[in-house]
Amino acid sequence: MQNEVLTVDQVDCCVVGGGPGGAMLALLLARQGVRVKLLEAHHDFERDFRGDTVHPSTQEVLEQIGLIEKLRALPHARVFEFPTHYADGSVSPPAASGVRSKYPHTLEVPQARFIELLVEEARQYPTFSIVFGARAEELIEQDGVVGGVRYRASDGRHEVHASLVVGADGRFSKIRQLAGFPLVGARAPLDVLWLRLPRTATDPERAHGIYLGADGFLVVIPRGEAFQVGFTFPKDGYTRVRAAGIDALRSRIATRAPFLADRLQLLTDWRQTTLLQIEIGRVRRWYRPGLLLIGDAAHVMSPAAGVGINYAIQDAVVASNVLGQRLCQGTLRTSHLAAVQRTRELPTKIMQAIQRQMQPRDDRVGHVSASMPMVVRLMRLPLLNQLPTRLIAFGGFRSEPVRELEVTPCPFRTLLRTAGAFVLDVISHLEPAYCMAFGLYPWPGTGDRHK
Ligand SMILES: Cc1cc2nc3c(=O)[nH]c(=O)nc-3n(C[C@H](O)[C@H](O)[C@H](O)COP(=O)(O)OP(=O)(O)OC[C@H]3O[C@@H](n4cnc5c(N)ncnc54)[C@H](O)[C@@H]3O)c2cc1C
Repeated sequence: MQNEVLTVDQVDCCVVGGGPGGAMLALLLARQGVRVKLLEAHHDFERDFRGDTVHPSTQEVLEQIGLIEKLRALPHARVFEFPTHYADGSVSPPAASGVRSKYPHTLEVPQARFIELLVEEARQYPTFSIVFGARAEELIEQDGVVGGVRYRASDGRHEVHASLVVGADGRFSKIRQLAGFPLVGARAPLDVLWLRLPRTATDPERAHGIYLGADGFLVVIPRGEAFQVGFTFPKDGYTRVRAAGIDALRSRIATRAPFLADRLQLLTDWRQTTLLQIEIGRVRRWYRPGLLLIGDAAHVMSPAAGVGINYAIQDAVVASNVLGQRLCQGTLRTSHLAAVQRTRELPTKIMQAIQRQMQPRDDRVGHVSASMPMVVRLMRLPLLNQLPTRLIAFGGFRSEPVRELEVTPCPFRTLLRTAGAFVLDVISHLEPAYCMAFGLYPWPGTGDRHK
């Protein structure tokens, strides 16, 4: 009976994937009274070496939905700029932020804590539910329209029927595969090995940043008591890095960032490292009738500039703005899904073009390639040169405001709820005989009256 379906739920929207994009979308929809179910394949949100960068636009969104103080109460590091450290020991001068926002800095917040914050908030809304350990496996389709998903949990298979399925399941998106959307894009020239090394009280204030070396570069990101260190090497070179041994890795890290040499003896085992095969890609169409992709599922971002979270979250804000009330009212059309793609696609494409240029190539370490795309060259022109800053800080040309600041229940559902409450109220005042006659039971809390 492995294929028996144990439960069938009916909601307005089923979001697959509890990453930053999926969790934010579920929260924003629940605030509008949309019945939303979030499916997360893992049993918690713990994930190591993932994006922790909360950019200005994301902080603005959290302010709008009343969560900014709770965000600031989480363990975090403020990063005002990301210096470049050159091989000769010189460092780029502190860059002015240039970001016009109430929150001109980025916060490095452990991703698991950030998502927990969103989900805890979403739990305040009765129309929200989440299932952990729920791996989406199949789309439920009829006549080319997606009407839900089947997922597998530890006890077996379940179904969620929904007017809309949102694939927010990240770079290896199952929903993208099931929908038959191929990922297009160029291969990134580099891969990264992530590891963690402790911070010390004597580390310089601007110790973080990018360290350019002759054989590649190192990314050093402050993460609480530690630095997350990204050691880059040419694509598919992992077997060579492993074959050279851990001593060679230590010495290559020390060459690129000499200040880390005094703690590299702590790196003793490959299990302390995690390989990230960098991909940059996107799907040409983000939607089908009944289905939408957002975040990395629609556009796999490289870790360059740490923009993956704010792009996923801006997608979620736009999707919730465009779709929320329509889901409530049952007036959702495929053209509304297309509108989400139209709003978000261009900034994503430009940012990905920039990300490709931000990855120094083997023989041109630290230099911008002369073969950069036209779009990136244009951005060096006056007036346009503010664009990359905005694209990084805001996840788009501007930070998308959350339209629904207050819970605006659907008029139809409000009517139903009011009518339902009235009927139940009447029933609770009926004599037991009436209750018996209509097969109804005494209303909770009124038991004494019916003895
Ligand atoms: C190593 C690494 C470092 C990075 N560093 C940064 C950084 O510093 N800053 C930054 O902004 N970005 C960074 N990024 C990118 C960033 O993490 C992503 O762009 C961002 O998390 C995308 O958010 P998302 O919600 O679209 O998807 P994800 O965060 O990938 O979330 C997808 C979720 O879907 C779940 N899922 C997958 N398949 C299924 C399924 N079949 N059923 C149910 N659930 C499923 C996964 O468990 C996961 O929780 C990094 C990425 C990596 C890999």
